[in-house]
Amino acid sequence: MRILITGGAGFIGTALANKLVQLGHHVRVIDDLSAGDSSRLDPRVVFTRGDVRDVPRLWTLLQGVDCVYHLAAKVSVPESVLYPKEYNEVNVGGTVSLMVAIRDVGVKRVILASSGAVYGEQKEQPVREEQRPNPQSPYAVSKLASEYYVNTLGALYGIETVILRIFNAYGPGQFLPVSHPPVIPQFMKRAVEGGSLVIFGDGNQTRDFVYIDDVVDALIAAATARNVNRAVINVGSGEETSIKQLAHKVAEVTGRQVQVIHNEAESGGVSRLVADLTRAAKLLGYKPKVKLKEGLRRLMELDPRFRVS
Ligand code: NAD
Repeated sequence: MRILITGGAGFIGTALANKLVQLGHHVRVIDDLSAGDSSRLDPRVVFTRGDVRDVPRLWTLLQGVDCVYHLAAKVSVPESVLYPKEYNEVNVGGTVSLMVAIRDVGVKRVILASSGAVYGEQKEQPVREEQRPNPQSPYAVSKLASEYYVNTLGALYGIETVILRIFNAYGPGQFLPVSHPPVIPQFMKRAVEGGSLVIFGDGNQTRDFVYIDDVVDALIAAATARNVNRAVINVGSGEETSIKQLAHKVAEVTGRQVQVIHNEAESGGVSRLVADLTRAAKLLGYKPKVKLKEGLRRLMELDPRFRVS
């Protein structure tokens, strides 16, 4: 297959692109490198530096493409609270531009990397796709709006679309910005450096941490699965872990005594989140393989930033 990945130089995109070329597919990537790093891409991946809102550029890159993965986005919940306009422009504007370019060129299927964040606060856990979204941050709103645009424009323009709601992905190569870094690489780095772990709030808030290889399996299955047109599908581990429990696991895996410091809770977060995977199993044959402790071990082994010296 010929595949275009937007945001393909990012954490998930790089893992996906490298796996797809290993499987023999032709892969193009467009990424503006605002967060990504193209040096980790397999040399067989054809890389273009550009903005996903640049429709004429997309027309060229979409020629002959069968399937598009739309991953380009700004991805931090707390940052989105500070910069909602930018999150709307890039995440929603980027999605609409891409769908318009796809309409003009003609592509069979589009797969959107959406987020478990769209659920927001929900009484019923694990969350099922038919529960009503309740976004708590501009990031979550931008992902939900992207879902609606992808499915609505897909139906209007005759393009197959699949929405994957990815929960908290982690693994080697995850971008670690100075401000608002994701919790797992942040904890791992602090632990191996002998620093203390900062928990925002009481640490009883839960998340569903899913290892990158499982996310990539789901993304690849979505390209060829049948009966998935317009489907919204959760992709997680199905296991609920509190931030406190995560801190203990990080200490255990790194073999470090870690001190935990509590800071004020960040806005935009939710108290509980864990995925129901019934639909993913049925439609994609998806079954997560990597448990959290094993994933943290792999992270230490495969990512030089987290090796204990
Ligand atoms: P990432 O920041 O590593 O990747 C996003 C990529 O998009 C980056 O390489 C960045 O340079 C690129 N990008 C940003 N703005 C762009 C623009 N205007 N034009 C072109 N490229 C642009 O993040 P990630 O964790 O790999 O996330 C990938 C996708 O998966 C995102 O859409 C995100 O919302 C979604 N997602 C991620 C997670 C997670 O836990 N990592 C969970 C749910 C959903």
